[in-house]
Amino acid sequence: MSRLVVLSNRMPLGPDPSGGLVVALRDQLTAVGGLWIGHDGEIVETPAPALQPLDGGPFERKGFDLTQAEHDGYYLGFANSVLWPLFHGRTDLLDMQGDYLTTYRAVNRRIARMVAEELRPGDRLWVHDYHLFPIAMELRSMGFDNPIGLFLHIPFPSAGDCHALPDVGLFARWLAAYDLIGLQSQRDVAAFRDCFASVEGARVAPDGTVAHGGRTVRAGAFPIGIDAAGFAAIAAQQGLDRTDAPAVGEHLIIGVDRLDYSKGLPQRFRAFGHLLDLRPDLAGKVSLLQIAPPTRGELAAYQDIREELEQLSGHINGQHATIDWTPIRYIHRAVPRERLAGLYRAAMIGLVTPLADGMNLVAKEYVAAQNPEDPGVLILSKFAGAAEQLTEALIVNPHSPDEVAQAIVTALSMPMGERRKRHRAMMHTLLRHDVEWWSDGFLSALDAAAHAPAKPVLRVV
Ligand code: UDP
Repeated sequence: MSRLVVLSNRMPLGPDPSGGLVVALRDQLTAVGGLWIGHDGEIVETPAPALQPLDGGPFERKGFDLTQAEHDGYYLGFANSVLWPLFHGRTDLLDMQGDYLTTYRAVNRRIARMVAEELRPGDRLWVHDYHLFPIAMELRSMGFDNPIGLFLHIPFPSAGDCHALPDVGLFARWLAAYDLIGLQSQRDVAAFRDCFASVEGARVAPDGTVAHGGRTVRAGAFPIGIDAAGFAAIAAQQGLDRTDAPAVGEHLIIGVDRLDYSKGLPQRFRAFGHLLDLRPDLAGKVSLLQIAPPTRGELAAYQDIREELEQLSGHINGQHATIDWTPIRYIHRAVPRERLAGLYRAAMIGLVTPLADGMNLVAKEYVAAQNPEDPGVLILSKFAGAAEQLTEALIVNPHSPDEVAQAIVTALSMPMGERRKRHRAMMHTLLRHDVEWWSDGFLSALDAAAHAPAKPVLRVV
């Protein structure tokens, strides 16, 4: 049986790594045998010439290291100052410094050469995310014809934004070297098609199949799931419930997001402030707990959002707080997932309002953590990939303070029967489309795509 080789920038470390992706792939990796390759977290002066085995863990892992210059140009630079903002619709934040693209390509070439040493005929390679786009093209140029799939965890950019890339033709060739591109939502598949339709020399079929540079690649939506049953069990074990909301008589609203500009946190805080302006009677009765762990703090755009948020929470609290009530509690630290599960369950409202998001797993975890007898209400941005699946949430435009404030009012007064009905429907979706369904679906489609004869394709006009 062919092995599964997984390649991602971040590596699940530790003897028993948790997290959805690991749970999903552990069975695949242990049953058919396989290997997970990723950055071992080390910054070194001279990188090791080959992948280094990492001890322990439920399946075989091998790591690569990076020099400081590589970390700066490949990870902080091209991946997180060009691709991340561009793929989240923030071309205003693009920072295309001199050698970012050169470093990104060089690091990917070095990783591809090390992966090539590991790859056996027939092995399937599953590459994850935007740090590693060029891997398939590099391996093809070395003569590898293994099935290679890419799953993109973040949104696919609009056709217009694609052309803000330093070299959109090269980007298209990177993608065309895969057999399958997995995207989070139907909206992303449409954007993928639009982008290729606008690239010179590319031909696109109505089913999303793309021919470019002598290769054919298929694209499809594979919305990532969570281990819904497992997470629900953890939440139930935490022993917290609605009556345990941190202050008696308060309705708790929870937000959990890395402190990233794509998550719409200033807009969320302003909407909450707007609610308190509109409804003075809610003073002392409702509070927002925002957990926002730091991320990529070396980059200026992330320092700016941190300052903005600290100012905003200070301003709103200064205006509305009383001696015994703080409207916004803002925590700039990571909280373990088990503890989050209990907090989600205690919260009356899960407030998930990103401006752009591939999926948003917090939205799914909030639903899975609810007590089915007395579930809370999910308020969800229409710009999260999860909105295509969780249609029974209160769907909002995160840019509109009025709409978000109104949704909070609706959620606070939602009758139990309606809360249960919405929760039941969303839980059904999460259990049916969990993380195993996702990885099985992607890998079956990869097998089919790799073995399908190239189909004639049409240009989309
Ligand atoms: N998370 C966590 N502790 C925190 C904040 C987040 O464990 O303090 C987890 C959260 O439970 C979820 C993931 O990090 O599983 C965030 O995934 P999501 O898709 O919502 O956002 P991303 O950070 O990938 O953009």
